[in-house]
Amino acid sequence: MPEMVFTKTFRAGEEIFRIGEPGSDAYIVQSGAVEVAAPSNGQKRVIARLERGEIFGEMSMIDDAPRSATVTALEDTELVVIHRDRIMQPMRSADPLMNMMLRVILTRFRDAQGQLIDLRAEQGGPDPTLDEVRDLVMHRITVERDMRKGLSDTEFELHYQPIVDLEAGHIVGFEALMRWRKSNGERPSPMEFIPLAEETGLIVELGRMALAQGLKDQAIMAEAFARIAPDLPAPFMSVNVSGLQFSQLSEIDMLADIIQASNVEPTFIKLEMTESLLIEEPEHAAQALERLKGLGVSIAIDDFGTGYSSLSYLHQFPFDTLKIDRAFVNNMDRSENSARIVNGIAQLGHALDMKIVAEGIEETKQVKGLLDLGCHYGQGYHMAKPAPLDETLALIENGTSLL
Ligand code: C2E
Ligand code: CA
Ligand code: CA
Repeated sequence: MPEMVFTKTFRAGEEIFRIGEPGSDAYIVQSGAVEVAAPSNGQKRVIARLERGEIFGEMSMIDDAPRSATVTALEDTELVVIHRDRIMQPMRSADPLMNMMLRVILTRFRDAQGQLIDLRAEQGGPDPTLDEVRDLVMHRITVERDMRKGLSDTEFELHYQPIVDLEAGHIVGFEALMRWRKSNGERPSPMEFIPLAEETGLIVELGRMALAQGLKDQAIMAEAFARIAPDLPAPFMSVNVSGLQFSQLSEIDMLADIIQASNVEPTFIKLEMTESLLIEEPEHAAQALERLKGLGVSIAIDDFGTGYSSLSYLHQFPFDTLKIDRAFVNNMDRSENSARIVNGIAQLGHALDMKIVAEGIEETKQVKGLLDLGCHYGQGYHMAKPAPLDETLALIENGTSLL
């Protein structure tokens, strides 16, 4: 059994621990001073200078993650070393809720600190102070609390954006997009709350809700659609699924249950996912995708071209649809390269027998350009912005042709 608490002296310039090392001790400065530094964009950044009475190394100790910074003695320094077990043993026998709280708070603090440091380095500004990191953590905790409350108060709802056949001009499907209408009237952007929902795990519940509600509304839309355009196939419903939802097979079962409990034919259901999970856990992703494909639903790969190098894995997974990120569509007429990329992606998709959807179409001329480049489906403000169910039904009643 190692000694639990002891004192250790470091000479000026001596490293106490280095970023990436496993952390088993926390330290209190008894005398002297240390510097905490982390690299950012390849450069060393000093995060803090700590003196008598201040603690460091506590995060790695409790959340069992590698050290997030390098600490060096600035002068001859005496430290009280607290071994991990000194904290962990009582914590294990303590209230599990306490235990969990501590871990969550520390993880958040670490993430917020890392993100702020990167952001400042990008902007060329000074390093964030501890107060700024704390403010960010507090902001996130508040948003998370509001989100949990919002979920039970049904502040979340879906808007629908049509996906259009660019040649024939009519609607072929809708994408369900989450909206948050807070009781105080605020409407935070999904770009803000979805990443937070992913960090906190709330996306799992939000994602179930999106699927259940999206399928319920699909049935209503399909009815309206059949009245207006009896000769066209019913519109499919495309729902976004986060990597976190995919990462547990039990959650895939939940999604499968929702699909089976809905009255929607699986051929009218599409699930959209991004590339990240495929890269991080390819075998697991394949298993999850096969399970969902087995139900008869289609799978779309979202934001294609923005993530990692995508080509190597594309044919290994059972995708039916490839969505070209709007950045390429946006730049198409300004940049020859963007146009080539769109064309390349479209050809690749066709070769693998996939449907291609171009995102973010804002101008008439992009429609023609995309058709020439081999994209047959499109989505964007030029055709329609995302709208709530009642407006979407009104849109359908007005005619299913949007071009
Ligand atoms: P996304 O899946 O790429 O969704 C398309 C986004 O592009 C939507 O943003 C849509 O409103 C926007 N958009 C559509 N047409 C145009 C256009 O012509 N111009 C421009 N500038 N934008 C256009 P939104 O609704 O803000 O959603 C942002 C992201 O949040 C989504 O990007 C998706 O990643 C995520 N998200 C939204 N709802 C859900 C959800 O239910 N679950 C999950 N996991 N993620 C969601
Ligand atoms: Ca999407
Ligand atoms: Ca997208």
